[in-house]
Amino acid sequence: MSKSPALEPGYFLDSLRAADPEVYDALAGELERQQDGIELIASENLVSQASLDALGSIIVNKTVEGRPGRRYYGGAEFADRIETLAIERAKALFGCGFANVQPHSGSQANQAVFLAVLKPGDTVLSMALDAGGHLSHGAAPNLTGKWFNPIRYGIDGEGFIDMGEVERLAHAHRPKLIICGGSAYPRAIDFPAFRAIADSVDAVLLADMAHFAGLVAGGVHPSPLPYAHVTTATTYKNLRGARGGIILTDDPALARKLDSAVFPGVQGSVILNAVAAKAVCLGEALKPSFKAYAAQVLTNARVLAGALMARGITVVSGGTDTPLLVADLRPLGLTGAAASESLEAAGLTCNKNAVPGDTEPPAVTSGLRFGSAAGTTRGFGGAEFRRIGGWIADVLHAMAEGGGRDETVEHIVSAEVRTLCRSFPIYHGLDVTTPAGAGLNRSTDQ
Ligand SMILES: *Cc1c(COP(=O)(O)O)cnc(C)c1O
Repeated sequence: MSKSPALEPGYFLDSLRAADPEVYDALAGELERQQDGIELIASENLVSQASLDALGSIIVNKTVEGRPGRRYYGGAEFADRIETLAIERAKALFGCGFANVQPHSGSQANQAVFLAVLKPGDTVLSMALDAGGHLSHGAAPNLTGKWFNPIRYGIDGEGFIDMGEVERLAHAHRPKLIICGGSAYPRAIDFPAFRAIADSVDAVLLADMAHFAGLVAGGVHPSPLPYAHVTTATTYKNLRGARGGIILTDDPALARKLDSAVFPGVQGSVILNAVAAKAVCLGEALKPSFKAYAAQVLTNARVLAGALMARGITVVSGGTDTPLLVADLRPLGLTGAAASESLEAAGLTCNKNAVPGDTEPPAVTSGLRFGSAAGTTRGFGGAEFRRIGGWIADVLHAMAEGGGRDETVEHIVSAEVRTLCRSFPIYHGLDVTTPAGAGLNRSTDQ
């Protein structure tokens, strides 16, 4: 049983505590976990209080289907207003003509693209899962892998996409859809080259910017939108919003197909509280302060990569252009599974991840993926990410030298992590809309 309700009395609504102490207690435990640990999972972030308010709002009671102004149920005036705000903000933020903000997640956004532009059995060219691709890009166990014909490109020995390989595979297999963008690919993608290859075989180019949408929004990463026929993103990674997906395009004919692929193609009614939260997140990302946040996310990821390399830890591709980086543990003789467990015990949450040419199974892997988005939101700057890199190195080197988990080092690091976290509290005067994410929490070293 968690002792956590004492941590932030009254943070969650007292009505929930009274009505359902079991759910309340689990939520309070999760708050403590988020408060006292450093979140390095690249797909996570800390949303604003305003996003939480929208998510927990009464719009959840409303059922609508279809697009704003063309609903199948009445009483949609305010639902329409909310969804239109989200659409208009997405268009303004990413500079495009059309947005669909209904996808329940990034995977549903990608499914809708498959449904809009492909027939079952059609060929798709996408990045292999072990190279950093995503399940929803044609991985074998996913619907997109079972019902379509995926051809996969990889990365070279240095960890970069080999555009020559992409071109050769495109010409050999004539895919109808080419996908760029991944879950664990840390480098900037050559969007113009992808578009040229897509054009040369008459394929649609999908850019999935789930892991760099916030940097694109903040103007610190090239935008795929001028090159991709369609772009998908999640709102909950470095875009710093609540869970969900969006689909963007400039092509009106494709937009119509995408709309009907989302509904009634792969989804039913709209999760309006999620759409309201997307509107809030997109509104925050349009503020000038978001640019400072995005720039700091990138700086922090690079600082972390540098800190790890300075301690002799191999970083795939030697750095990053995004909020994420991947460490290769093979030189240390460690697996991703064992290393991530030890780091979690030390208060540093990250995930195991395949590395180029990994021979370990997906449940084990030989790598770790780290992201800077959540830490940056709570106010960490370069000084804090250098310390984090040092702690990660302490834990990994202790494991490598001792031949297994080193609980002494885990305890020392977790105490230091907790002390740092206490100086950068979450949901406690934290105003994510101020520069670099930090209201009360402000690193002295950006
Ligand atoms: C995170 C991610 C998604 C979306 O995943 P969901 O869990 O379905 O929201 C899609 N594509 C890529 C490349 C991702 O990294």
